Order: sequence, then structure tokens, then C-alpha cells
Amino acid sequence: MRTVVYTAEIDDRFGAGKVSSRIGLSSPAKLFNPQTNLLDEIRADVAAGEVHCVLVDECQFLTREQVHELSDVVDELDIPVLCYGLRTDFRGELFIGSQYLLAWSDKLVELKTICFCGRKASMVLRLDHAGKPYAEGEQVVIGGNERYISVCRKHYKEALVVGSLTTIQEAYRR
Ligand SMILES: [Zn+2]
Repeated sequence: MRTVVYTAEIDDRFGAGKVSSRIGLSSPAKLFNPQTNLLDEIRADVAAGEVHCVLVDECQFLTREQVHELSDVVDELDIPVLCYGLRTDFRGELFIGSQYLLAWSDKLVELKTICFCGRKASMVLRLDHAGKPYAEGEQVVIGGNERYISVCRKHYKEALVVGSLTTIQEAYRR
């Protein structure tokens, strides 16, 4: 089956035009940026040969228009589109791409991550180089010194109030 794979141009952690999984599989990928017309590109792919599926990684970076284009790929070209990405940023705000995917997609599958306490990790905490959590600033910073940690909502809030995730983790273990 021929799958067209996309990832965000903004994310070059794995080298340009490549999608990698944590179990070691990888695939070449086309890049999208906010100017990419996904419907036109996929139409051109279809003209060059049959396309069975479209996979979009880092789909939180899609624009509203691009999510609409992908819905046209499903409705007009009759090709299934699978999108994979984050729901919210480190401030707890929806990414634009995710906002419209949540609104318009046919099916939603939530991949659950677990907080250190065992609860569902629904939030992403951003830690600076010193390990201090902060919830302000630009939505997208890639390749900086900050780390992102998935935590439950309760511990997300506590970490921001206390100003340290480690303190909370230590208190929790006692
Ligand atoms: Zn927790």
C-alpha cells in the first residue's frame, strides 16, 4: 500500500523529511509548513499513482485551513487520513491544528501516557534548563534547552505553584 507521510517542517530533530518511532522504525516524509497546500499536493500524488493512505505526524502544527484540506482529501479524494500529535501545549492551551482536528475528525483515539503518580498524564509541563517549570512564553520552541514532561492535571498545577517538579515527586514518594 502506498502511504504519503508528512511531518512539520519545524521539527528537524530526526533530520529533514523523516518520521521516526521510538521503537526504531522510520519513514521518509514530506514536510509541511503553514503555506503548504495539502490538498493540491496530495492531488498531484494521486495523479502520479494510487495513494491508499495519508499519515501526518506533528499534526498540532497544521493550520485551520490545512485541517480543512485534509478533510477534503477524505471527502473528495476518498483517501483515509491519519493524524498524530499533541492536544495541548505546555500552557494547557489547544494547538490550532489539534483544535480543528478535535472538531472535524471522524474518529479520535487517545494514546494514554501515565504521570509519575499513576494518573492519566493529560498535560505537558515545560521545564527550563534548571528544571524549573514555567507556563509562559512562545508556544513552539524546538531544539532549545527545555524539556517537556507529561504529567496529570493535578501535578501540572502543583508543579507550577511550587515551582519545582522534583520537590513534588519527592513529597509524593514519602
Ligand atoms: Zn500526577
